[in-house]
Amino acid sequence: AEWTPEKGWDAGKLVPYGPMSVMPSAQVLNYGQAIFEGMKAQESAKGRVVVFRPDQNAARFKAGAARMSMPAVPEDQFVEAVKNTVAANLDYVPPMGKGSLYLRPLLLGTGPILGLGPAPGYTFTIFAAAVGAYFKGGQLTPIDLIVEERFHRAAPGGMGGTKAAGNYSPVLVTQLEAKKNGFADVVYLDAKTDTYLEEVSSCNIFVVKGRTIKTPPLQGTILPGVTRRSIIELARSRGYDVHEEAVSVHEAMEADEVFTTGTAVVVSSVGSMTYRGNRKQYTAPGQAGQVALEMYSNLTDIQTERADDKFGWVVPVN
Ligand code: PMP
Repeated sequence: AEWTPEKGWDAGKLVPYGPMSVMPSAQVLNYGQAIFEGMKAQESAKGRVVVFRPDQNAARFKAGAARMSMPAVPEDQFVEAVKNTVAANLDYVPPMGKGSLYLRPLLLGTGPILGLGPAPGYTFTIFAAAVGAYFKGGQLTPIDLIVEERFHRAAPGGMGGTKAAGNYSPVLVTQLEAKKNGFADVVYLDAKTDTYLEEVSSCNIFVVKGRTIKTPPLQGTILPGVTRRSIIELARSRGYDVHEEAVSVHEAMEADEVFTTGTAVVVSSVGSMTYRGNRKQYTAPGQAGQVALEMYSNLTDIQTERADDKFGWVVPVN
């Protein structure tokens, strides 16, 4: 769909995947006016294709647009566009349990501009791609994380709470270096005190001690993950004591278990975390943590309609 100041958003249309054409003066190419979302459509046990909590992505997309001085895509138009994209790509949805159709909504300042300012025109588009497990080794293999000591992902008052494309460029150097050193991903600490966990490059983080689960609070520096929010609700419904509360890296190194959550990673058990050369091993090599496993199976049972959708999270497409 296209936005102009005169007409607002048009109805949009389905087009085959292919190149987009913009002027070199497009705002997004020069000043980075771009936000995105990440969602999944999956085949369910009821023999239909479903998406998970699209209203949450629509709301985050809207909040992100406001933070980036972009015209918001109306939430119902966003959800309709998601459903239409999936409906047009049903042939590419993998069989249940074999992966999902990843959806990537984008909102881009495509209008031309020279001096710094918001674009005079916008494009909202969604592309789709069939995907399997996010981390090498498959879904239930625990991942090794390293705590980043030099760089921060987001600063207080910055864009960390927004799914802005520009948030991800600072992550490339650290992520590549971590991978070269045998780690799956990087944990970021807060920019003010270098003490408290923020999140991982593409997922939120949870720390378990006994029946208590903690996850860093939303203070504008971390992404309000849809999976994060869902796991908080699920864990509470399972009787865990869940706190959105600052977790120091030292506390995390003493935890029983650590896991990460996100649309792409679902729930990933953290096998080990390395901080200043000290390695804390949480699980036996190759074995996922108990709470991570419980949360993973609870969440995916709902997402694929094997379990009752008691929270009303699943939206059918066909
Ligand atoms: N943090 C970051 C930085 C992310 O990119 C993502 C993925 N969108 C998440 C957390 C997890 O968010 P969600 O559960 O909505 O996918």
